[in-house]
Amino acid sequence: MSLRLYNTLTRQVDEFQPLEGNTVRMYTCGPTVYDYAHIGNYRTFVFQDILRRYLEYKGFQLRHVVNLTDVDDNTIRKSQAAGMPLRAYTDKYSAAFQIDRQLLNLEDPEFLVRATEHIGEMVKLIQTLVDRGYAYASDGSVYFKVAAFPHYGQLTQIDLSGARAGARVDTDKYDKNDVRDFVLWKAAKPGEPFWETPFGPGRPGWHIECSAMSMQYLGETFDIHSGGSDLIFPHHENEIAQSEAATGKTFVKVWVHSEHLIVNGEKMSKSLGNFYTLRDLIARGYKPSAVRYLLASVPHRKPLNFTFDGVHQAQQSIDRLRNFRFRLTKESFPAGTSTVLQAHAQEARQKFEAALDDNLNSAEALGAIFDMVRDGNTAMDHGDFRDGDRGAFLDTLERWDRVFAVLDDNDHAKLLKFGLIKPSAVAAADSAAEAGKDAMGLEVGNGQPASMLVETLSDEAIEKLLAERTGARGHGNYARSDEIRASLLNAGVILEDTKAGTRWKRK
Ligand code: AMP
Ligand code: ZN
Repeated sequence: MSLRLYNTLTRQVDEFQPLEGNTVRMYTCGPTVYDYAHIGNYRTFVFQDILRRYLEYKGFQLRHVVNLTDVDDNTIRKSQAAGMPLRAYTDKYSAAFQIDRQLLNLEDPEFLVRATEHIGEMVKLIQTLVDRGYAYASDGSVYFKVAAFPHYGQLTQIDLSGARAGARVDTDKYDKNDVRDFVLWKAAKPGEPFWETPFGPGRPGWHIECSAMSMQYLGETFDIHSGGSDLIFPHHENEIAQSEAATGKTFVKVWVHSEHLIVNGEKMSKSLGNFYTLRDLIARGYKPSAVRYLLASVPHRKPLNFTFDGVHQAQQSIDRLRNFRFRLTKESFPAGTSTVLQAHAQEARQKFEAALDDNLNSAEALGAIFDMVRDGNTAMDHGDFRDGDRGAFLDTLERWDRVFAVLDDNDHAKLLKFGLIKPSAVAAADSAAEAGKDAMGLEVGNGQPASMLVETLSDEAIEKLLAERTGARGHGNYARSDEIRASLLNAGVILEDTKAGTRWKRK
């Protein structure tokens, strides 16, 4: 079967075929490097890694570009506040991004590129737009003239014709002729870093960065462009306008957007302050592989609600898979093969491939593998598993993990390598693992503060604690009962004891 992907542009699931030969040319918008990326960002990056890995699994070659936005309002403002040159400041967070990528098993793209190293290409593209009548200068800045591009809005499919020319509906401090117009080049303000260009000293707008870098490495028309759904408008809509106005060609064939990681119904974001970095979670004892698993577990077009319980369950799921693999390789079984079991393993492989072919339905792909693990474990427990059955099961597991990449237990080694835990913690975690326990609660070595958020508990976790509290009260253990009330309060949950029992609500 071939891979089918939902294309935001066509609003349907289309069969995927590269435009040229066997190589997939793909651009995924990377982070703005003014701070640590949060795990919401990583939901999108993990999804893009699953897409990348599955394309490879299907036998395609990848030519994949990821960019670092290392110049924009945020990077400039934050570097100035830190009293650091822009490059030194963004270097710190680019390095952190690289470390997080390795911790989360994100494959290296063929090109990881910085905006500030491609200013020449951006200037050239802006010049083309000016020459072709799609852009104009005003007060040292250059704007894209949306009225000159009739296809504007094709990705978003919103009608912007009602927006009045000259109206000021946003906080943009630059002067433009039409409210829909967007900035390509920003005139330098005093004290800001700038590049000298024919338009005057300044810096690129965010959208032009991605158009210039993607077309430089992938050509004027390429296969896939991806980002979180918040990038559809205006970022990707503007990228299409700039690129297609400049080249007269289709910019991208398939647009793939992932839905958000949310916390209590709201998008996880820096501005709302409801975010965790990967380091925050490591500091709380969660393994990067569990974070990866959690982020990959929900299909990308559905929002994913973040809870600590979710990461914990992800960790348990991985343990289950690793234990099964351990049994497959280490346990002894009677000689022979079982046709039924072999068929189970093959069926699981077909099912997970069919699920991923279906617009990367990761939840179904997980379901297929867990069905296989259940059948395999049951057969082993009942003495039905045969020595000759190992290969089929190991093969399906290995294939599945080429895409999900969570089975190799190298979390500790990586955390140690990047100084995120101390050696002593590794020993403790190893002995915990040997004792068959969960290696939670790693000692943190880099002094990275956990974020200031209160914990988010799932309804199930709350009910569980409530049941424990009722039990404790029944045994007269009021100290424990009070402790549970306090920790729930800390997590934003208020208890109310009534005659009918204990009720709870979130703050
Ligand atoms: P930024 O660093 O803000 O440019 O974002 C980098 C990537 O993360 C973009 O593709 C965003 O769409 C994506 N992103 C930001 N917040 C979230 C979130 N809460 N859930 C999923 N993806 C997100
Ligand atoms: Zn972009």
